Parts: sequence; structure tokens; C-alpha cells
Amino acid sequence: GQRDGRSIVLRDVVLSFGGVRAIDGVNLEIRPGQIHGLIGPNGSGKTTTLNVISGYYAPEKGDVTLGSPLDPAAAVTRAGRGIARTFQTPRIVGEASVLDNVMIGGSIDGRATFLEALLSLPRHREDERRIEADALLALRAVGLEALAHVRADRLQHSELRFIEIARALVLRPSFLLLDEPAAGLSGVEIDHLGRLIVEIGRQGTGVLLVEHHADLIFSICDDVTVLNLGRVLAAGTPAEIRLHKEVVSAYLGG
Ligand code: ADP
Repeated sequence: GQRDGRSIVLRDVVLSFGGVRAIDGVNLEIRPGQIHGLIGPNGSGKTTTLNVISGYYAPEKGDVTLGSPLDPAAAVTRAGRGIARTFQTPRIVGEASVLDNVMIGGSIDGRATFLEALLSLPRHREDERRIEADALLALRAVGLEALAHVRADRLQHSELRFIEIARALVLRPSFLLLDEPAAGLSGVEIDHLGRLIVEIGRQGTGVLLVEHHADLIFSICDDVTVLNLGRVLAAGTPAEIRLHKEVVSAYLGG
């Protein structure tokens, strides 16, 4: 990935489904090494925003840049530009080992989709060794190295969520987009997740964290953007957002 100090910037991004504007003029900056929380009620446009950044959808208006414009072609991954993502539902091949599941991440490049990566073995033994070493490092980073050789379908839901993150880390991304990583996790597991995300940021990776779990957002984020009805209701530091009147009444229930 590139670590040249540039941010991912969304400028006035609009995207509709049918007649409905899912996001309606969103501005957002994800800075290198910073954790950017994206919150808002259900249907406010969080996942759509993540999908525009990941290249899954091309914006109808506005643009997404990382220094230069990001190709709006609907690539499932932006690995070629150093952007990795996770999915709300972990995508796991149950019969394969945990290590193989994480290594799939290293086979995904700018061209390949998840399925293509799954079907294609590394071309050369050296590639395979390098990807395996990276996958073991990624598993160590999420604390699941001991499970490398266990079949993935033996793992608990919470463990699969961390495997999903490990798979993205294999790409050594400069930006990581996390789609509700805390869903279904216990308090202790959310603490573990929070420490992991902070460490990922410390190592220089910019993180977009789409999350319902307000405590996690407010405890680890550098920047927070609040969406409502596809628009930015508020943006700022966690301290600023906590004091924002409309956010407190509309979203935090204060
Ligand atoms: P959030 O992630 O905040 O819950 P979404 O980005 O999923 O919100 O959805 C924003 C709006 O766009 C909602 O009104 C939702 O119904 C609509 N929407 C999202 N994805 C699609 C889709 N693929 N087709 C039609 N409507 C969609």
C-alpha cells in the first residue's frame, strides 16, 4: 500500500437507488493513520458510503479521491490503491483452514474478485510462501495465530469476525474499511476489537469504522461523521459530536 500522507476524500457524493437518494452530497475525509467513525440510524447511508469508497458503487455525482481520483469502475476491492475492506457477514470457506481463509486476502489484487482469488492458487511457490507468512502475521495481529490450522467452520462467530479483519490486513492496506465489525460481539470481545483497531491506526493505516456501537466509536475514533437521511448531520471529534445538540436528540437519545 501507499503511505504517502494522502487522505481518502469524498466530495459531494450522491448515489440513488431507484428514486431514493441513499447518500445525498456526502463530504468525508479519512486521514492516514486516523480512525474515522461513521454513525447514524439504520438506512442513513453508512454502508452505501463504504461501498462507494470500496468501489462497489460508482458515485452518481461528486468524486472520491486518494490524491488522484479513484477509478469509479465497480471493483470489489481497491487493493491496487491500498484500500481493503471487511463485510458485515464474514465470508468464510468452512471446509478450508483458517490460514487458507486468511491467505485468500493475499491473492486478491486489483483485478481479482473474492471468488477468482478463491479459485486461483498462487502462481509460484515463492508467492505462496510470502502470502502464508503475511497471513500468519495477520493472524497474530488479531490474536488468533493458534487457530491457523483449524477448519474455519469450527470457529465461533466472534472469531470469524477477527478472521475477516486478518484477511484484509494481509494486503497491508493503507486504508481499511470496517463494516460493523462489533456486531454480535460481547463486551470483552469489543474491547479486544477496539485495541486491535487502535493498533492498526498506530501502524499508519487509516480506518473507516461503520458501527452501531456508540461506545466503541466514541472511545477510539479521531474523527466522527454522523449521517442522517443520506446527509452529514455533524462531523468532528468525538468530544464535539457528543455535545452536538441535533445528534444528541436524534441519535444518542439524550
Ligand atoms: P445504513 O448502512 O446507514 O443502514 P444504507 O447505506 O444501507 O444505510 O442504506 C441507505 C438507503 O439506501 C436506505 O434507504 C436503503 O434502503 C437504500 N439502499 C441501500 N442499498 C440499496 C440497494 N442495493 N437497493 C435499493 N436501495 C438501497
